[in-house]
Amino acid sequence: MLKINEEVCIGCGICESSCPFGSIEMTDGLPLVGDSCTLCGACVESCDVEALSIETGEKGGKADLNAWKGVFVYCEYRRGVLAPVSLELLGIGRRLAEIRGVQLSAVLIGNETGDTATQLIGYGADTVYRVDKPELASFSEDSYTAVLTSLIQEHKPEIVLAGATAIGRSFIPAVATTLNAGLTADCTKLEIREDDGALLQTRPAFGGNIMATIVCPDHRPQMSTVRPKVMKAMEFDGDRQGDIVEVSPPSSELNSRIKVLESVVSTETNVNIQESEILVSGGRGLESDKGFELIKQLADSMDANVSASRAVVDAGWIPYPHQVGQTGKTVAPKLYIACGISGAVQHVAGMQSSETIVAINRDENAPIFDVADFGLVGDVFEIIPKLIRKIEDKRGS
Ligand SMILES: Cc1cc2nc3c(=O)[nH]c(=O)nc-3n(C[C@H](O)[C@H](O)[C@H](O)COP(=O)(O)OP(=O)(O)OC[C@H]3O[C@@H](n4cnc5c(N)ncnc54)[C@H](O)[C@@H]3O)c2cc1C
Repeated sequence: MLKINEEVCIGCGICESSCPFGSIEMTDGLPLVGDSCTLCGACVESCDVEALSIETGEKGGKADLNAWKGVFVYCEYRRGVLAPVSLELLGIGRRLAEIRGVQLSAVLIGNETGDTATQLIGYGADTVYRVDKPELASFSEDSYTAVLTSLIQEHKPEIVLAGATAIGRSFIPAVATTLNAGLTADCTKLEIREDDGALLQTRPAFGGNIMATIVCPDHRPQMSTVRPKVMKAMEFDGDRQGDIVEVSPPSSELNSRIKVLESVVSTETNVNIQESEILVSGGRGLESDKGFELIKQLADSMDANVSASRAVVDAGWIPYPHQVGQTGKTVAPKLYIACGISGAVQHVAGMQSSETIVAINRDENAPIFDVADFGLVGDVFEIIPKLIRKIEDKRGS
């Protein structure tokens, strides 16, 4: 909250002109703060007489950090399928919990979740809070927010992790806001600071040009979302023991204001490049949607999936679900073949964890070669048809 010390304020109006959001209006010689204030602090810095200050922590969180203990992982379950990112989060969650010497709990929300809770224990959870209700069969922001928020309020975990999937991005910010907690989105690295046990949340910033490490010193829980394929899942251990706790939320939490009338699965966008073992990825070097057909032919020849740089998606040669990179998907296939892709940081951020990277580019200085295991310097229109012929010869078709 922005506080104004009326006795100190001289009514100069500098704060009004310094506010980037136009949230301050001088009224009767004093600043009046509107709803659009984001607490960015620009006015506080501009005030020479120090009449303005930001008051934090009044909604709780700062209070008693020691009251918050344990690690929570939200495990996304939809239409009978557990999102693979849930297992990756349990992998990193297990590591963080062990360093902190605390319990790792999975939160499973959905309907008819079968033996998923047992699987979550095999993948590292000590406890699974299972909220299995018909009302939660379809995802809805309000009921999922209410259910997860009240579990966090009840058990007070110091860390809450969730996948940066469409669902995670949709309701985890609402959970964080309700709890008055911070939220670091799209983390690529999570570590514990030895001095005080704080969670160090690292993510790309400024268009991927720097890596920023974010710490929440005063509030709990510390909340992060992590993109699929960034962290590694543990090996499944069927002998692991854990507790499954059935949770029955009150109807006020289960009853959503949203009615799902129909779910339509788009066949065109129903590709999950994050699950592909081989990706053939095309960039602007393919010159046109006709040129991009070569990528599809190369992919077909090796039973691979097609992905692309943002330049290609922006040009409309292929839809967004195929985009790799900072604003697309993070992928880690066994083989990633980058054709006519320069290797901008924002693209590399999404594919550098691939096991083997092959790059084809006519510019020998293209940055993609810095991350490639094998590089072919040359024209995609010459190299790709030869590659297809070779592969087809080998496969005998
Ligand atoms: C905030 C932000 C987020 C972004 N997010 C993403 C993202 O998620 N994913 C992403 O990909 N980009 C992203 N970008 C864009 C990124 O910066 C680059 O502009 C983009 O990746 C470039 O795509 P490209 O490599 O296909 O095209 P270019 O950079 O134009 O590269 C084309 C390459 O093809 C080569 N080439 C040309 N003709 C041939 C030929 N005949 N044979 C062989 N090689 C040839 C050229 O030498 C060149 O290296 C983002 C940018 C910003 C600012």
